[in-house]
Amino acid sequence: MPKIQQLSPHVADLIAAGEVVERPASAAKELVENAIDAGAKNITVEVQNGGMTFLRVTDDGCGMTAEDAEIAFLRHATSKLRTAEDLEAIHTLGFRGEALAAISAVSHIDLMTKTADSPFGTGLHLDAGVVTERDSVGCPDGTTIIVRDLFYNTPARMKFMKRDTVEASALVSAVSRLAIAHPEVSVRILRDGEEVLHTPGDGKLFSAVYAVLGRQSAQEMVEVSSRWESYTLTGYVSKPNATRGNRANQLFFVNGRHVRSKTMTAALEEAYRNQLMVGRFPSCVLQLTLPEHLVDVNVHPAKIEVKFLNERDLFDCIRYGVEGALEKASGRVQMKLPQQKSADVPAAPQPPAAPSAKVASPAKDTFFRTMSAEDYKAFAEVIREAPRPQLTPELRAALERQQKKPAAPEKAPEPPQRQPEAQQELPLSSEGYRIVGEVLNTYIIVEEGSNVLLIDKHAAHERILFEKFRSSAAPIVPQLLLTPILCKPEYEEAALLLENAALLGEAGFEISDYGDGVLAIRQIPADLAPEDAEQTLGELAADLKAGKRVDPSAMRDNVLHTVACKAAIKGGWHTDERELAALVKEVLSRSDLKYCPHGRPICAVLTASQLERQFKRA
Ligand code: ADP
Ligand code: MG
Repeated sequence: MPKIQQLSPHVADLIAAGEVVERPASAAKELVENAIDAGAKNITVEVQNGGMTFLRVTDDGCGMTAEDAEIAFLRHATSKLRTAEDLEAIHTLGFRGEALAAISAVSHIDLMTKTADSPFGTGLHLDAGVVTERDSVGCPDGTTIIVRDLFYNTPARMKFMKRDTVEASALVSAVSRLAIAHPEVSVRILRDGEEVLHTPGDGKLFSAVYAVLGRQSAQEMVEVSSRWESYTLTGYVSKPNATRGNRANQLFFVNGRHVRSKTMTAALEEAYRNQLMVGRFPSCVLQLTLPEHLVDVNVHPAKIEVKFLNERDLFDCIRYGVEGALEKASGRVQMKLPQQKSADVPAAPQPPAAPSAKVASPAKDTFFRTMSAEDYKAFAEVIREAPRPQLTPELRAALERQQKKPAAPEKAPEPPQRQPEAQQELPLSSEGYRIVGEVLNTYIIVEEGSNVLLIDKHAAHERILFEKFRSSAAPIVPQLLLTPILCKPEYEEAALLLENAALLGEAGFEISDYGDGVLAIRQIPADLAPEDAEQTLGELAADLKAGKRVDPSAMRDNVLHTVACKAAIKGGWHTDERELAALVKEVLSRSDLKYCPHGRPICAVLTASQLERQFKRA
C-alpha cells in the first residue's frame, strides 16, 4: 500500500503557483492588479522574451514598509481581506493573497518599494520564494518588481510555453484589458524596448479604448449608456459595418473586472440581429455595474468567469442597451479619402482632444427600443393623416421665385409639374436635400446641407422591403413544388438542415433526405423563386453551423432576408427617377434604414470639409 505523505510546503507552493501563474500574462496581470490596488496613477510594464526572462512592473502607488514587503510574499498574505464577511463585498482586484507567493515560488525576484512617509525604500531579492537579500535602498515612492526567468525551476510548466511572440501578445492583451477597466490609470507597456501601449489615464473610457483598439476601431464605435433596474451599462460597441471575423475584440467587464460570459456575448449579438453577415462579430467594450450580491466573481481562480443571480435581466440589460445605442447612432459611413499632409493626424497614442464629440453623447432616455416595423407602420399612418401644412404667402413667393415662374394667383397653388408626389414637396426639398442623380446605375447622389450622400440603391431597397415583410404578421405561405429540387450541401450542413426540419417547416420549407447526402426540397416559401431556394437554405445552414441562436423567428427573418434581397432593385439596373426619389425619401426620413440585412451600409457621407481638404482649399 502506498504510504500517504504530506506535501512539503515547497511542493505545495509550486502546485499553487501553477494555478495562479499559468504563463507570463497571468503574472503580469496579477502584478498590475496589485499596482492598481495600491492606488497607482502610472504603471509601466516592461517585458523581454514574452515575459519569460524579464518582466518589470513599476508603479507610483502607496508602496510597502520593510516589514510588509517580506510578509507580502507569504502564502495567504493579503492586506485586502481580514474576515470571511469581507469576501462578500470585495472591491479591490486581488484578494486571495497568493499572487506574490505563487510568482516568487517559480522565479527570481527583485523588489524595490517605498512608502511616502519613509525616507528610505526597501530592496529584497528572492529565489524560488525565499528572501536571499534585504537592503535599505534609495528609490522613488511606489513599487518596482522585477520577475526573472519565470518557471526556471518547473521545467514541466516551461514546456507549455508558446513562442515568445505568442506569450508577449497574451501579456499585452491581459494588461490592455486592465488598462481599459481603469481609464483613470495611465498604463504603458514596453515590449523588448518598444512602446506598444500607452493609455493617458485621463479617466475617460474612450481614451483608453482609443489607445488599446486604435484610432480606426475606436472611431467606428458607438457609445452605450443605459440602465436596467439596478444594472448600469456603459461602454462602446462597433457599428454593424465595422465587424470582425472573430470575437477577440469583445471585452466585457463586470464591476470593473474583465469576465467572459456566454450570456453577455449572446445578448450583444442579439442586438445586431438582421444587421450582420454570417460569420461576422461585433466588437465591444462594455462595463456592467450591478450590486455585488447579484454576482459571484469568485467562482474561478483566474476570476474570469462569473455567476449571475439573474441571467435573464443581464441578457435584457445588454441587448436593449446596445440596441438602443445602435438605433440612435447614424448608419452613415464616413467615406475615407487618403489623408492630406496638412491634415491633423493625432500622434499615437494621444487620444483626440475631445473624444466625446466623436461619438453619440449619452442621452437621458437611453432605453427606447428600435422602432419595430409595426410601430413604424402606425407612426407612418399618423403622419399621413396629419393635416398638411398650409403655404404662407411668404413661402409661396419664395417657392415661386425658385421655380422662376411668374407669381401665381393667390388662390390655388401650382399644379404638380412632373409627378403627383411633388405636390407635397417644396421643390428645393422641404426635407433639406437635393437628389443630384445616379451614378454607375447603383449609387444615388444626394446633397444634404454641407454633406454629399451616396446611397446604395440595392441595399436601401433591400432593407425597406425586409422591414415591410417583417412588419406583416402573416405566416410565411408555403408553395408545394411540382418537381422537388435536389441539392447536395456539405455533409455537416445537410445533417443540420435535416435535424432542423421542423423549424424549417415554419419558415415554409419542407425537405427530406434523398439518400447519398442529397436533400429533396419539396416545398418552399411562396415569395421565394424556386431557383433561389437552394441558396436560401444554404444561408440558413451557415447560420446553424455558426452556432447562431436559431428559433422560428430568426428562421423567418432569414427567409425574409433572401426574399427581400431577390425582390429588391439591383445595382447595375436602370431605375426610374421616381423610384429613386422614393427610395431617398425613405432612407433620409426613417431611422430603421441604416444597414442592409447583412450589415452592409446603405448610405455613405462625404463632408464638405473632407472635400475641401482633398482639394487643398482648407
Ligand atoms: P492580494 O493582492 O490578493 O492581496 P498578493 O500576493 O497579490 O495578494 O499581494 C499581497 C499583498 O502585498 C497585497 O495585499 C498588498 O498589501 C501588497 N502588495 C502587493 N503588490 C503591491 C504594490 N505594487 N504596492 C503596494 N502593495 C503591494
Ligand atoms: Mg494581488
